[in-house]
Amino acid sequence: MNPFAYERATAPEGAVHSLAADKNAKLLGGGTNLVDLMKQDVERPSTLIDITRLSALAHIEAVEGGHRVGALVRNSDLANDGDVRKTYPLLSQALLAGASAQLRNLATTGGNLMQRTRCYYFYDSALPACNKRAPGSGCGAVEGFNRVHAVLGQTDEGPAGAHTCIATNPSDMNVALAALHAVVEISGPKGKRTMPVREFHRLVGKTPQLDTNLQHDELITGVHLPASAAKFAANSYYLKARDRQSYAFALVSVAAGLEMDGGSIKSVALALGGVAHKPWTSEAAEKAMIGKPATEETFKAAAAAAMQGAKGYEHNAFKIELAKSCIVRAFTLAAQGTGNHGAEGAAA
Ligand SMILES: Cc1cc2nc3c(=O)[nH]c(=O)nc-3n(C[C@H](O)[C@H](O)[C@H](O)COP(=O)(O)OP(=O)(O)OC[C@H]3O[C@@H](n4cnc5c(N)ncnc54)[C@H](O)[C@@H]3O)c2cc1C
Repeated sequence: MNPFAYERATAPEGAVHSLAADKNAKLLGGGTNLVDLMKQDVERPSTLIDITRLSALAHIEAVEGGHRVGALVRNSDLANDGDVRKTYPLLSQALLAGASAQLRNLATTGGNLMQRTRCYYFYDSALPACNKRAPGSGCGAVEGFNRVHAVLGQTDEGPAGAHTCIATNPSDMNVALAALHAVVEISGPKGKRTMPVREFHRLVGKTPQLDTNLQHDELITGVHLPASAAKFAANSYYLKARDRQSYAFALVSVAAGLEMDGGSIKSVALALGGVAHKPWTSEAAEKAMIGKPATEETFKAAAAAAMQGAKGYEHNAFKIELAKSCIVRAFTLAAQGTGNHGAEGAAA
């Protein structure tokens, strides 16, 4: 591990100031991702700014227009909060489908938003090619072992291409937040701003090294959960297909919510995990369901729209059909008001 300095922030403004003063500094939340990456020599921060004592960022509160979740709220506290379970069960289910109880006890909301891909070529600094880890070095995954990789929205210029990256965002929480139109609250040297979760994470484009639109000198202070998302509470389901029943990242996940009006669908929440560099949303798929009955035929049409243009690789082409099946099943269970108790295992 590289030598680094350590400092403890006593106020959000102080953390922002320290970030602005050092372009190689990094914030330390629960450390469950960053410290792993430092041990692997993938992340080499000059300074760790420990924000875990910023108690003002550690609360969940009801606010005008919804709920505010502080950036330091632990994943387990968020998942098990009474209001969250009642109003945003999709979020609670997604969180409980992630990692393990021990990890969730440490992992923070801000850190989860910022967690990095689990692409093997990114994680292993002994491997030469990874445009995300070493911009311009190429991509080992595109013609290598690409089982967990993207099938939508990736940049593929071949293994030697300077922008090729088929990594995925590995988070479960982010998928539910995107489906529910949550908004990230940010503090920086120029003040405060907000950004919808759907715009927070990036597609690869020409910058595979960047996962999000957060600037280096900005701190996530919280997440706003809109009150309007409560309309999906009665009919929502988070479905996670993975190689093991627990303690495994998603091959494909679906956050599905329906607002019903009698026998027809009034509005839809949909996001996919494990298929793209960001939580994948599809307005076309959501629109395809509006005004229709909650039937398999409706859900199949939406699944086809969501996966339009998908491209698979040697080891992950199965994800395209798997994602379609997962969309249909997640909405079927959501429509039944199954309520869900976490995630489903699925052998792919
Ligand atoms: C074995 C294992 C299995 C896992 N399985 C899953 C899974 O199935 N599903 C899933 O979703 N996740 C899974 N995870 C990932 C886990 O959810 C993340 O490691 C965790 O959410 C990261 O949160 P943290 O607070 O520990 O972040 P840290 O490791 O502290 O930080 C991660 C990044 O976020 C930045 N950061 C932290 N806080 C802020 C902030 N407030 N503002 C701006 N930047 C910030 C840090 O600088 C760093 O770059 C797994 C992890 C492990 C180790």
